Amino acid sequence: MVSTRAQQYDAEVLRREQLSPHLVRLVVGGAGLASFESTGIPDEWVGLVVPGQFQSRYYTVRSWSGGELVLDVVVHEVGLVTEWALRRGPGDVVGERVTITEPKGSFDMPADARWLMLVGDLTALPAMARISETVDVPTRVWAEVPDDLSSYLSGDVTWLSPPAAGTSALASVVESIDWPAGEGYFWMAGESAQMRAIRKHLMRERRLPSSAYDVMGYWRGVAQRQPRAVDPGPIWRAGKAAGRTDEQIWAEYDEARDG
Ligand SMILES: Cc1cc2nc3c(=O)[nH]c(=O)nc-3n(C[C@H](O)[C@H](O)[C@H](O)COP(=O)(O)OP(=O)(O)OC[C@H]3O[C@@H](n4cnc5c(N)ncnc54)[C@H](O)[C@@H]3O)c2cc1C
Repeated sequence: MVSTRAQQYDAEVLRREQLSPHLVRLVVGGAGLASFESTGIPDEWVGLVVPGQFQSRYYTVRSWSGGELVLDVVVHEVGLVTEWALRRGPGDVVGERVTITEPKGSFDMPADARWLMLVGDLTALPAMARISETVDVPTRVWAEVPDDLSSYLSGDVTWLSPPAAGTSALASVVESIDWPAGEGYFWMAGESAQMRAIRKHLMRERRLPSSAYDVMGYWRGVAQRQPRAVDPGPIWRAGKAAGRTDEQIWAEYDEARDG
């Protein structure tokens, strides 16, 4: 019988380094990782299970070399991995054993792409850094981060501050970007609601084929008020009967959900 369970590796935390107030570098390694193999896809990620937990959280492989796997972990207000990574003193995470799952990647830039745009928040910074290191087309980056991380990522980078702790305004940033001419690739990751808005923008306003972009929700902000569930059916039928365009109908639908 073929097992469908993802391959898992036991690893040990070798080092921990505070890169900035909100970003902690964990270097993991040990004999358990000996058979670990990178996919080579520059935004590849692994699942991380910390001691005493069974749920995993996903982290980008910042690098894998010499038997050492580097993960750069955002520490925010609360969270399973956040609280573990913040431990200090005798309970420091160095020497602790964690479980890593096999890597997977998503970045798939077409061979004829002449430019690349990368947009993301702090959770996406490790992936944006690794992608920038591996591609050879002109690359523009928009990074929304709460700390000064200008030495983390070089090149054509626009540094933005989040509007408030644990929030993001990346969707409106993308809506105002001047799009380069010709074929290219757009990669973006961050808070899920922002990513949903951008997918709509790329499909409806930019009319990009799905092969031209990759937009991933890396984490879910807890909404203060859950959006109301609205059935699109009646809005769609009424809009069609009134001769409105698809865009107008979807805009009405969004308004009905937000209102
Ligand atoms: C493919 C992929 C790659 C990723 N790569 C990285 C990476 O390299 N580095 C990295 O740090 N994260 C990365 N993430 C995001 C990370 O998995 C989530 O942020 C995760 O929820 C953090 O786990 P936690 O245990 O700290 O918090 P959780 O226990 O999952 O969440 C606790 C609370 O914190 C909130 N929260 C979660 N993440 C954030 C955040 N980033 N900012 C503010 N509030 C938050 C949640 O809404 C929740 O209320 C990646 C996610 C994916 C899907």
